[in-house]
Amino acid sequence: MKLIDNIADMKSYSDRIRAEGNKISFVPTMGALHTGHLKLIKNANNISDICVVSIFINPAQFGPTEDFNKYPRDLDKDKGLLKEIGVDAIFFPKLEDMYGDHFQTYVEVEELQKPLCGKLRPGHFKGVATIVLKLFNIVKPHYAVFGEKDYQQLQVIKKMVCDLNLDVDIISHPIVREQSGLAMSSRNDYLDSGQREKACSISQALFNIKQQFDTGITDRNNLLDSAYSILNKANIDEIEYLEIVDGKNLIEKKLAGPGDLVAIAARLDGTRLIDNIRL
Ligand code: AMP
Repeated sequence: MKLIDNIADMKSYSDRIRAEGNKISFVPTMGALHTGHLKLIKNANNISDICVVSIFINPAQFGPTEDFNKYPRDLDKDKGLLKEIGVDAIFFPKLEDMYGDHFQTYVEVEELQKPLCGKLRPGHFKGVATIVLKLFNIVKPHYAVFGEKDYQQLQVIKKMVCDLNLDVDIISHPIVREQSGLAMSSRNDYLDSGQREKACSISQALFNIKQQFDTGITDRNNLLDSAYSILNKANIDEIEYLEIVDGKNLIEKKLAGPGDLVAIAARLDGTRLIDNIRL
């Protein structure tokens, strides 16, 4: 497994792989890897000759009051997990190399960045799109795998790839959940066992909406009402949003239909968790 910590080496590694006629798959991550990440990476490994994983905590996607400084970091553990899976290369660039002096060029996916997480995290998707484009230019993958857990991010990336004519196939991977239903996340590390139990009501609320939809209920307010009572009962009262939106353009729906997305962001004692389900 190649350990690559600078941009020039990553570019020349990818150039060599491409010149040999091999296909590169790529999974960008912020590290603190869990089983969810590892499933994406196994998928990427299966569809290509060479699989590259990046580990980079991207400051540009964190707001000034967010958890950039305390975001979990354990590069040695991550390297061990990736070696076990049989990844070909890990790219872990330095902050100062990715964002040099007076960095001032950003990508914005104007409409898709606005709803849901974009409302309370202004600038987040600008930071995401910019770092992903930079990583694509450095790693030069044929395929890139993203998780549906970050559904809005996935749509933003797909749109950027389409609008900017990038030669990368974007592959999505379903949400990986713990047995309790809780969507796996590096931020779950912040939760103690009681908080984890509480956090399960987030996915339960989503499953409840899906169940109701499957019985024929389509009115947004009817669908959301009992989800709110599940969340209130678990004392999850800081709900940033719970919305039913079109699965492609993320515009809010009053009447839900097949393929729509139910998305939630909630804070649990300061820890921000997101989850979603397709109807
Ligand atoms: P992150 O390290 O949080 O930036 O995530 C890196 C990639 O892993 C992103 O494409 C995420 O959507 C994906 N991912 C993280 N957690 C999960 C999960 N529980 N299920 C599916 N994909 C996930």
